[in-house]
Formats: sequence, C-alpha cells, structure tokens
Amino acid sequence: DSILSARDLRHSFGPTDALRGIDLDVQAGEVLAVMGPSGSGKSTLLHCLAGVLTPGSGTVTYSPTNQPMRNISGLSEQDRSRLRLTDFGFVFQFGQLLPELTALDNVSIPLLLAGTKRSEALRRSAELLERLDLASMSERLPGELSGGQAQRVAVARALVTAPSVLFADEPTGSLDSLASENVLTLMLELVREAGTTVVMITHDPRSAAYADREVIVRDGAISAGYRLPV
Ligand code: ADP
Ligand code: ADP
Repeated sequence: DSILSARDLRHSFGPTDALRGIDLDVQAGEVLAVMGPSGSGKSTLLHCLAGVLTPGSGTVTYSPTNQPMRNISGLSEQDRSRLRLTDFGFVFQFGQLLPELTALDNVSIPLLLAGTKRSEALRRSAELLERLDLASMSERLPGELSGGQAQRVAVARALVTAPSVLFADEPTGSLDSLASENVLTLMLELVREAGTTVVMITHDPRSAAYADREVIVRDGAISAGYRLPV
C-alpha cells in the first residue's frame, strides 16, 4: 500500500527546471533512500512530498493507514503546516536544534506545539533520549554535544510525535562514518519498531544500504529504482 504517491511532479525555480515529471510511490513502512548528484532535485522532491513546497504541477497524495486519502498539493498552507506537525517528522543535515534550549527541551517542542501537557511531553522526550543513548545528555545545550549526539537529539525530536513519515535530508551528511552508522542504526531501530515510513536523501552508499529500496534522481527525473538484494 502506498502511503505517498507523486504523479507527474514538475517544479521550476525561475529558469531552472528542478523537477521534470516525477512519479513515485512510497510504500507504508518502507525505508526509501533517495540518491543522485547534487542539484538533481532531491530536496525539491522531498519538500513536495512533505507538503513544504507546492509543486508547479502534478499531485502528491497521502494515504495513511485507516485515514482517507488526501491531496497534499491541494491543501492550504495552514492545513499543510498542521499535517506536517501531526503526521510528519523532519531531520536535516545540521543547524536544526535551538541553541539556547537543552536537548530535552528541544525534543519536547513538537509535543508542546501539538498541545501535549508539559509533564507528559518531558516524560516522553526523556524516554526517547534514553533509547538514543542520550540520557546523560538531556540537560546539555546543543553546543555542548558532539555532532553525532546533536543528530541523535534531532532524530528524537523528529520521532517524538510518532509521525507516520520521517523525512530526512542528508541526516548524517555532516558526520564521520562511525557517528553516521551510530545515528542510522539507532534511528532505524526506532522506525522499524514503530512501522514509520522513511524518505531519506543521502549521497552515501553506506547509508543507502540501510534502506529497503533506493531511487536515483537525475536532472529532475527518477533515473533508476530497484529493490536492493535482501
Ligand atoms: P538536490 O537536493 O538534488 O541537490 P535541489 O532540489 O536542492 O537538488 O535543487 C534542484 C535544482 O533547483 C538546483 O539547480 C538548485 O540550484 C535549484 N534550486 C533549488 N532550490 C532553489 C531555490 N529556492 N531557488 C532557486 N533555485 C533553486
Ligand atoms: P542540498 O544538498 O540539500 O540540495 P543545497 O545546498 O542544494 O542543499 O540547498 C540548500 C537549500 O537552499 C535548499 O533548501 C534549497 O531549496 C535552497 N537552494 C538551492 N539552490 C538554490 C538557489 N540556486 N537559490 C536559492 N536557494 C537555493
């Protein structure tokens, strides 16, 4: 069952055709790696799938289990931002934690925004930090964490609302290979357990090897998509 379906997505930034007709189905519960050269349209595709950006033309439909299908590309800005908050999680390459808040407070933000009681939000955030081997870091500020620790806090914040889909744009792009592996292993353990769908942009074949499937974007189009050998 596909949870996200893109049909003939096209998008231009001025004279630049970033997406030139993308069709893509993301299966519920799968971990999908999106690869391809820099500038090929990967981030633009992810932004369209996640309702961050409305494509110039084409549609993105979102069909979570037990809920009616929605045409994300047709929603108002307000409805898209509500959907992102309730159903999606985001992890980026860097610079995403609020520098003046502790790790614990950073993780609790999405829950507080969603109206969860503060005590409950802190309890769930602490629990998740512990699962990511960060229990002893919860009172630290982002500037006091290593790169790998900060990315694990970002993963905790992205998953604390139990999203249906996790969107990750080069989540380990700023880390060395040992830290990358650590972040990905812990992240995938959590998403596999929860059945979270993952769309992850990566340049790194070793990161892509964690995925169930990879697609390659070139010049705004999908140039290859195949099942990795199990
Ligand atoms: P990738 O993620 O594969 O590196 P992007 O989706 O970021 O590729 O970009 C695709 C193309 O669109 C590139 O040529 C990029 O320079 C251009 N682009 C992306 N975002 C913008 C923007 N906000 N304004 C102008 N051009 C953009
Ligand atoms: P990535 O490797 O994720 O594609 P980029 O450095 O290409 O990172 O882009 C980072 C951000 O800048 C993205 O949000 C993208 O939309 C925006 N961007 C990319 N190219 C341009 C551009 N030519 N003009 C304005 N914004 C751009």
